[in-house]
Amino acid sequence: MQASPVSTFAPGEPLAVLTTQPLDRLLDYRAPEGGAVIGDFVEVPLGPRKVLGCVWGPSESGLPLEKLRAVIRVLDVPPMRDELHSFLMRAAEYTLTPLSLMLFLATRAPGLSSGPAMIRVFRLGDAEPVRMTDARRRVLDVFDSYGGSALTIGEITRAAGVTSSVVNTMAAQGALIEGEAPKDQPYPRLDPELAGKPLSEDQQAAVDALAAGGDGFGVTLLKGVTGSGKTEVYLEAVANCLRQGRQALVLLPEIGLTEGFLERVEARFGVRPGEWHSGVTMTERRRLWRMAGEGRVSMVVGARSALFLPYRDLGLIVVDEEHDTSYKQDDGVMYNARDMAVLRASLASAQVVLASATPSLESWANAEAGKYKRVDLHARFGVAELPKMRALDLRGQKLPHGRWIAPALKDAVDARLAAGEQSLLFLNRRGYAPVTTCRACGHQIACENCDSRMVEHRFLNRLMCHQCGATAPVPTACPECKTEGSMHPIGPGVERLDEETRSLWPDARVAVLSSDLFGSARALKEQIAAIAAGAADIVIGTQLVAKGHNFPLLTLVGVIDADLGLHGGDLRAAERTFQLIRQVAGRAGRHDKPGLALLQTHQPDHPVIQAILSGDDEGFWQAEANERKALAMPPYGRLAGIILSSTSLEHAFEMGNLLARNPEALHKIGAQVYGPAPAPIARVRGRHRVRLLVKAAKGAPLQQAIRAWLAPLKLPGDTRLAVDIDPQSFW
Ligand code: ADP
Ligand code: ZN
Ligand code: ZN
Repeated sequence: MQASPVSTFAPGEPLAVLTTQPLDRLLDYRAPEGGAVIGDFVEVPLGPRKVLGCVWGPSESGLPLEKLRAVIRVLDVPPMRDELHSFLMRAAEYTLTPLSLMLFLATRAPGLSSGPAMIRVFRLGDAEPVRMTDARRRVLDVFDSYGGSALTIGEITRAAGVTSSVVNTMAAQGALIEGEAPKDQPYPRLDPELAGKPLSEDQQAAVDALAAGGDGFGVTLLKGVTGSGKTEVYLEAVANCLRQGRQALVLLPEIGLTEGFLERVEARFGVRPGEWHSGVTMTERRRLWRMAGEGRVSMVVGARSALFLPYRDLGLIVVDEEHDTSYKQDDGVMYNARDMAVLRASLASAQVVLASATPSLESWANAEAGKYKRVDLHARFGVAELPKMRALDLRGQKLPHGRWIAPALKDAVDARLAAGEQSLLFLNRRGYAPVTTCRACGHQIACENCDSRMVEHRFLNRLMCHQCGATAPVPTACPECKTEGSMHPIGPGVERLDEETRSLWPDARVAVLSSDLFGSARALKEQIAAIAAGAADIVIGTQLVAKGHNFPLLTLVGVIDADLGLHGGDLRAAERTFQLIRQVAGRAGRHDKPGLALLQTHQPDHPVIQAILSGDDEGFWQAEANERKALAMPPYGRLAGIILSSTSLEHAFEMGNLLARNPEALHKIGAQVYGPAPAPIARVRGRHRVRLLVKAAKGAPLQQAIRAWLAPLKLPGDTRLAVDIDPQSFW
């Protein structure tokens, strides 16, 4: 590890603090009584407020001491380690983000500055419960499995599946003893020596290959068909990491997947890991943040922001479903968690496992180039086989008005219903219909704030803008020509498909899975668990269902419109369509019964549809790679998007033109600038959006050039500028 000189500051000495405030520079303070060291998290005065900061280094401003205010106090948490310090600096440089925003990302736990408060906990008492009921037995078992440590009432009731009155009664009887404990309890230790599932030869070979990576930095692409047991394999990599006494992080693309995953971790290691995502309580977040820094949580499962926790000794990062677009954050700090995971691991001397059945072209290419190791799982685990795939040629089939399910798909669903198996109808469109128009005048209802149509959501009985989330009542008359009852839907969304499904199969139990239909992460989680347990015969879903869920009874997947993603004109249209349809088809036949995927298409001969059907993955990646190479596009070239937005279209364009006319800094590195052009969605939330695209060769110092290029720019009015390095989408 790098040996940086331990910089300590005696009381009253000047030091520089990075705060989470958007100031873009360090602020000088005097060290508090008791002194400070670099990395200390501190509370400092800023104007009339107290803000969170981190001691970043010696003062450089040369301001006289008496001008400086003093640090209020050093927080009772371990100082930021060099590794995280470097990570934030490097990530800020890479994404062209102010460092303060990076610190903000790394301190997103509430109440860090409040001292360790006490909470109510229970320990095992000496008395036996007066009468041993099942519920009371389960409570005692929970204490057993947590090694007798003190537990909160929430932990007990959840783990034992009992109400709080059971716990309180047991306490009254002396079977439990109530007491106090510091709020932020360490997490119970995961035990890597518990027996895992016996592995197949293929899986064992993959585990051995991962272990051969050693314990320094290294990246492995774990490519395995859906259902091959990638999770089982990388859990063994987690076990190895735990044996070395280091911490493991597993990133999941979708919080609906967490619950199932936590159960698998518990089955493998005896207890649950720490959990970090938007559905976790504030106290729990604070606890995890602290315990990560103290090394008292050995495994963390989370969303992309878990990458910014202050781990004491991170030894492994797994990025599950690494191709998933949700790893790219598209607002605020625009970063790709997959790439930042590799950066952090390189600084922490940690291993990275990128797991996917359909890797991103970026990772595939890195493996091809020998930068990443690659480990393949070729078959589904056990008797499960990959689903058969067939195209349903819609050409020449005239479906009745408002119908989207072709007869052959209907027959296939009939057969599943008769056999008591589940079917999934996949359509990546939320709402009732993508377009609502007036029969009399052709008017389409658009969002007031965006260049985007309002989508009817019949379940909510509202129109909704998918760009800004604005909603409006569904009008009974056309807002333009005032004709009563003239508004009618065009094209299908999942809610309309639901209507058709219910009319075709009135007795079937139908469930719709679409992200807008669930008020909370928990509701979604419960619905997914219910479906897995067999509570639905037909599942209708958006891309939400494509992500890694395991529905054992599901044997048929019907893709309603396989052509949907092919026409975006987006650089990644082919790649995304391939990934999405492969993934969703992979939901079928994951257990003993064989699966079938039917793709409704008007272009059965399209190369992407052909690649999906043939299962020739390598051929597909190779063709896609050749095409990108020929165009010098990512991953064989580099892109950056510049997005100017303003309430004034003129301002946005003026700034865009100014940049386009002064490209010298870019030309110096051989980069080209394209635009300005209106962004594909030219207005969002009332702001006009103008885009420029910078294209450079792979090895070019793109960020440096962009920084120099943007430096002289003074933005007028409320014009804002955002830089998107390695953009994933072009909205
Ligand atoms: P993937 O992540 O590759 O899609 P999973 O790890 O989810 O695959 O495994 C698919 C299914 O097969 C899961 O239900 C899992 O429990 C089961 N499975 C995989 N490997 C084994 C094994 N070695 N022993 C028992 N069950 C396994
Ligand atoms: Zn009209
Ligand atoms: Zn809108």
